[in-house]
Amino acid sequence: MGSASSSYRVIYLDVDGRIQKVVFSRLCTPCDIKELFCTALGVPRNTLLSLLDSSGAMVSIDPTMPQNTERSPYRLVPMARGQLDDKEELFQNVLTQVAEQFSRAFKISELKSEVTNRIAMLEKRVELEGIKVVEIEKCCNDIKKLREEVAFRKNSNFLEDNKKLTPRRDVPSYPKYHLSEETIEALRLPTFDAWQWEPNEMLSCLEHMYHNLGLVKDFSISPITLKRWLMCIHHNYRNNPFHNFRHCFCVTQMMYSMICLCRLQEKLSQLDILILMTAAVCHDLDHPGFNNTYQINARTDLAVRYNDISPLENHHCAVAFQIFSQPECNIFSNFDQEAFKQIRQGTITLILATDMARHSEILDSFKQKVNNFDYTDEEHVTCLKMVLIKCCDISNEVRPMEVAEPWVDCLLEEYFMQSDREKAEGLPVAPFMDREKVTKPTAQIGFIKFVLIPMFESVMKLFPQIEEAMVQPLRQSRERYEELKQIDDAMNEMQKKKSETLTMSGKK
Ligand SMILES: [Zn+2]
Repeated sequence: MGSASSSYRVIYLDVDGRIQKVVFSRLCTPCDIKELFCTALGVPRNTLLSLLDSSGAMVSIDPTMPQNTERSPYRLVPMARGQLDDKEELFQNVLTQVAEQFSRAFKISELKSEVTNRIAMLEKRVELEGIKVVEIEKCCNDIKKLREEVAFRKNSNFLEDNKKLTPRRDVPSYPKYHLSEETIEALRLPTFDAWQWEPNEMLSCLEHMYHNLGLVKDFSISPITLKRWLMCIHHNYRNNPFHNFRHCFCVTQMMYSMICLCRLQEKLSQLDILILMTAAVCHDLDHPGFNNTYQINARTDLAVRYNDISPLENHHCAVAFQIFSQPECNIFSNFDQEAFKQIRQGTITLILATDMARHSEILDSFKQKVNNFDYTDEEHVTCLKMVLIKCCDISNEVRPMEVAEPWVDCLLEEYFMQSDREKAEGLPVAPFMDREKVTKPTAQIGFIKFVLIPMFESVMKLFPQIEEAMVQPLRQSRERYEELKQIDDAMNEMQKKKSETLTMSGKK
């Protein structure tokens, strides 16, 4: 019994004034006891209850709670609504907070996935845009290449190598040759032997001429620009057998010697001197080695561009002013608009005058003026300048025989190249260019006799001093070639007789 009474607890409850006996095991949990009390009270099992003793003090509901008697029952009081509401509210709050936390957590995860999606989208776009950028870049490159190709094709005949026009940006590197007094003096004479000099030395000589004539000083030409310009000029002459940089040098040196010999600086303005020198330097720029007749007959781009009107000379001018259009090479950069216009017009007029197709026209015009030559008449002066550049251009035979003769070989080589090409292309061939028909004496005699001597003799009327220095050597050259022709003819005659004799003896 004792053990039984110790393993069970008896509690007396006052339920609405009625005493109720509750027995539970000591092994019961507080929760079980609370449920038991709810049943006793007749309220739902999960109703929150307060247990009060007779003095009104709260008693903990658990298996160890103090036992009581029927006379001192405990009172069960369901928890007040307010109390419940507070707890519920608290609980609700907690729930809400938890929910919010959850929701926030969900939102964060939602946001996270949204951000991830957006990043993925952006990445895709970047990738696409990147592809677009690459595509655009590729297109740009293609367009650039196409443009270059078009430009190259356009200019292929206009200018053999576009790069030639680009000057070296640094200070020209050709060594500054120290010209000896002897060279400086020799430069002033038509007897100067250009074959002795390397291109760099010729550049130094040309530079000297511009300085010596006072052009650099009078026109405030930058000496560095002058060097760059001359180097660019050198680069823009092709390596033709005849129409090359050495020919440019010879023509300019002859102009220089004529300026000195004829004391042209006393008769003409410094601007005229500058035009004469500059036109001489530029007069055959980018010559392709085939003359106007070939250009026209072969319908080259040059002939098409210039409508068969002096295609080469127009081209030389255009290249000259393309070079001047580059500030690094523009020796006229200090000129005002009007002065530049004059130098441009003057240079173009002189270069165009070098077309031999206009020889008679120009010489006739000069002959009409020479007996009443008026240095104050612009037309007269222009005509004189045209004749002067023409004289210089074809002045090789004025030079000593040993200097002049190699030029004939060079010219014939260039002519033969053209006639061979004409034959190959089925184009008309000029007899004076045909290797089957021409010899050095036949090539030169007619030219000296009918072109050179009459022209130089006309100039001689204005400048008698050229007779000894220029006309006399021409006459000697003519005589020499005539002698050579007689020897050639005699040799041919002998050859002919020999072959005739051989044929006759063969027949016998
Ligand atoms: Zn020339």
